[in-house]
Amino acid sequence: MRHQYHPLGFEGSRIAQGFWRLEEWNMTASETLSFIEACLDLGVTTFDHADIYGGYQCEALFGEALKLKPALRDKMEIITKCGILLPSENRPDIQVHRYDYRAEHILASVDCSLANMQCEYIDTLLLHRPSPLMDADEVAQAFDLLFTLGKVKHFGVSNFTTRQFDLLQSRLDAPLIINQVELSPLALQHFEDGTLDHVQQHAVTPMAWSPFAGGELFSGVSEQAKSVQAILSDLAQEKNCEIDQIVVAWLLRHPAGICPVMGSGKIARLAAAVEAMSILLSDDDWFRIWVASQGQPVP
Ligand code: NAP
Repeated sequence: MRHQYHPLGFEGSRIAQGFWRLEEWNMTASETLSFIEACLDLGVTTFDHADIYGGYQCEALFGEALKLKPALRDKMEIITKCGILLPSENRPDIQVHRYDYRAEHILASVDCSLANMQCEYIDTLLLHRPSPLMDADEVAQAFDLLFTLGKVKHFGVSNFTTRQFDLLQSRLDAPLIINQVELSPLALQHFEDGTLDHVQQHAVTPMAWSPFAGGELFSGVSEQAKSVQAILSDLAQEKNCEIDQIVVAWLLRHPAGICPVMGSGKIARLAAAVEAMSILLSDDDWFRIWVASQGQPVP
């Protein structure tokens, strides 16, 4: 019998933990396991990966930790991505940094991710970046097979425009449930280009990658960064919290239901983000940050 697609779409935690930088954290497998368990204890059950993270190494580091306690697998939602070919020491077979959405590549990439993470299924597979050569019909065939084989439960995209999203969706039986894009007080583009309107219209979950602009929000020296930092400090003082918490509250305040993907390997930073779920920013507060980043008043 054919499996049915889950009607409810993305059912992950409101805040996700990303593992792009896992290799830089220099953790042993048991330290990574402790980190994973601490995330779960905080209620952060959605873990974001990609085949290429850490030069194709992060998924395997995660898998080595999971192998120490396989029962944890069903307590989490694993997102991973495919489609970028990245020349690296670990992949001498890749000559050119490019994209590949041929069915053969998607299927092989998922098998590799499953083997690396030592698990049986991926909760949500995202196409990492749009490609001019992507054939939506071929992607649909690959998705169908992955779903039928029970290897992937849901599908989504990352860094797709609304048009690219619609094209792919038009060829799929499965609903695309995530568009993961860059969103932060220093990255406003997708607030204004229709991405966040489109996800609301189609009940898709927007995930925010680099919610702290990769750390630029704290250390950046551009005019924009300095202006945003000044408002964040004022708000943090007014609300008796930290500036990173104001940023999380700012993202969560948006009606699209943004799910920030946190990037630090320090569990205290994730705990602070979770705490920020209870900070409610007023519309005045929200716009103070918006205007500081835009560098001009709203029209
Ligand atoms: P981020 O949270 O914007 O940046 C993380 C960086 O900010 C780390 O270097 C961290 O340093 C620093 N940081 C965090 N909190 C801080 C604080 N309170 N004070 C000072 N520095 C702080 O996120 P990201 O790592 O760039 O991205 C998050 C996740 O998004 C990734 O892991 C990945 O899963 C996903 N991602 C997806 C895409 C895509 O194309 N789909 C692209 C990029 C990333 P410490 O390590 O010292 O805490």
